Parts: sequence; structure tokens; C-alpha cells
Amino acid sequence: MSVSPNEIKRVKSQGFLLNRSTDNFSGRIITENGVLTAAQMRCLSEAAAKFGNGTLTFTSRLTVELPGIPFEKIEDFKAYVAQEGMVTGGTGSRVRPVVACKGTTCVFGLYDTQALAKEIHDRFYVGYAGVTLPHKFKIAVGGCPNNCMKPDLNDLGIVGQRVPKFNPEKCRSCAKCAVESGCPMKCVAVENGKPVFDSEICNNCGRCLKACPFGAMEETETLYKVYVGGRWGKKTRVGTPLNRLFTREEVLDVVEKAILLFKSKGETGERFGSTVDRLGVEKVEKMLISDNLLKRKEEILEQVTIGGASC
Ligand code: SF4
Ligand code: SF4
Ligand code: SF4
Repeated sequence: MSVSPNEIKRVKSQGFLLNRSTDNFSGRIITENGVLTAAQMRCLSEAAAKFGNGTLTFTSRLTVELPGIPFEKIEDFKAYVAQEGMVTGGTGSRVRPVVACKGTTCVFGLYDTQALAKEIHDRFYVGYAGVTLPHKFKIAVGGCPNNCMKPDLNDLGIVGQRVPKFNPEKCRSCAKCAVESGCPMKCVAVENGKPVFDSEICNNCGRCLKACPFGAMEETETLYKVYVGGRWGKKTRVGTPLNRLFTREEVLDVVEKAILLFKSKGETGERFGSTVDRLGVEKVEKMLISDNLLKRKEEILEQVTIGGASC
């Protein structure tokens, strides 16, 4: 091994992961929201052949790793991919690359997940790049309650929601109610000729909003459910859903408050889920709803934090 441990650590913080039993590294490219242009893909293919071992590997966090890059070619590699606006990174005790499901185009998607993920990337991956946290902080953006991206297994997960709104005035008490038969959760029952919704079972998938041919289901705005403290790995914890739904503007504030809460209250080496359990869900929820964390943002960001992420 000709590369020193200090150099290995330094380039790891820039997104270059040592390839086991070699002097070569995988360069981890941040896709921002899981989307790359054709030009970027061409650039990466060329970079893999020019600097690496000719392969590209895709990670569960929607980054692309190019293995086999010799230590001395790292700087040239970075300059090469920068031509197409790409950077490496995604390691350490900080906000990690944001993942999004394909809700932007998916028929079940309730909103543009990739656009929200890009906004979160810009504000909290790039914006908080220099902010050390007690451990890594993973964010996932899901387009509907099908949860393909498993938002509830991330430190913070977002799920699109449409709450059904029924207008009895327009209901014609059909022999067979399309709203009832179309509900995948089977939480609609017809009583006295009209659909009745069981909100305990309804997951706000929004599938019934267009089901009624007589317009008895009204269009409602997309809201966002937030899970906090999920993780999947050495230890597992399913995220705790916050008690209310949020608007688009509010959900971005909740993300920022959660990061600030983790920085101010988290202990070195603990994931956000452990912080949530230690403080208590009720207290955490109150902190995430109130604006105190945002008001204390500057003070919290000045706090010295020792990061505990080892992978
Ligand atoms: S979570 Fe919903 S919107 Fe996202 S990919 Fe799955 S089905 Fe589509
Ligand atoms: S909600 Fe629509 S489909 Fe269902 S019974 Fe009323 S009018 Fe018919
Ligand atoms: S939102 Fe989804 S789960 Fe809820 S009633 Fe409509 S179809 Fe059923």
C-alpha cells in the first residue's frame, strides 16, 4: 500500500473510497436527485475508461461510483467530470446524498419528487456541506404511500399525500360506487348510497380523487408526510411519522429544523433515531413544529460537533 492512511482519509472525505486490497479508489459521483443528462452519462463512461477500470456501479443512494482510479489520477478525474458539472462526495458525518423515487413520471406519483429532491440537495446537501453532524443524515423523497424509496427507513423521509375530499351534493348514489371499488386500501364503504371513508386506514394515496364520474371527489393539494429517525443497517428503526401533514414550504423548513435539532441535541456517533428516542418523540415533534430551531440557526451552526460516522 503506497497511499498513506492520512491521504486515504483525506480523499475519502472528497468521495473517493479505497478499493479493497488495492491502491485504487472508487470516485463517488453525486447525481443530486438521481437524474443525469445524456451528456453527463457519456462523460462518466469516458471517465471510467480513461481513469478507472472501465465500469460504473450504481449505489443504493443513487450515486454512481467509478472504481479503479489510481490515487495520482484523482485530481484529473475531478477536473474531467467537472466539465459536465459533476462533483464527487457523499461521505462523512453530514447530510448525505438525497434520494428520490421516480414520482416525477410514475403514474402513482402525487408530485414532482425529483424537483423536491433537487431543492433539498441545493439547500441541505450543498448548503450544509460544511456542517458536521453527530453522524450521517439521510433524506429520502417518496412520491406516494407505495414507499418504493423506503422514506421511513431514512433519518428523514418525505411521502406525498392527497387527502380525499368528498362532496355529498354531487353524489348520485350509483348502484356501484367507483370510489369504493377503486380504493386499494379497501377503506371506503358505501352507506346509505354514499361512500364513507375510514381515515384510520386511508393512506392518502389520492387514487380516488379522479374515480367518481360525477365529480363528487374534489381535487386536493399535495401535502407531505414526514418520518423522522428511520434507519436500516447495523441497527434498524422504522421512522416515526409526525402527527400532521405539511405544505411544500413547511416541509422544507421541517427538514432544516431536523438537521439543526440533530446538530444541537445529537451525541457523537448516534443516528438521528437514537436522538429522537432519547429526547422523546413528543418533545422532538414540538421542536420540529415550532420555529425556535430556525431562530437559533446561527448559534447552532457555530456549535462544535465531533462526527461519528465511520462509513
Ligand atoms: S413511491 Fe409511488 S410515486 Fe414513487 S415510484 Fe413508487 S409508486 Fe411511484
Ligand atoms: S361517489 Fe361518485 S361513483 Fe360513488 S356513488 Fe357517489 S356519484 Fe357514484
Ligand atoms: S386516498 Fe387512497 S386509500 Fe384513501 S380512500 Fe382514496 S383511494 Fe382509498
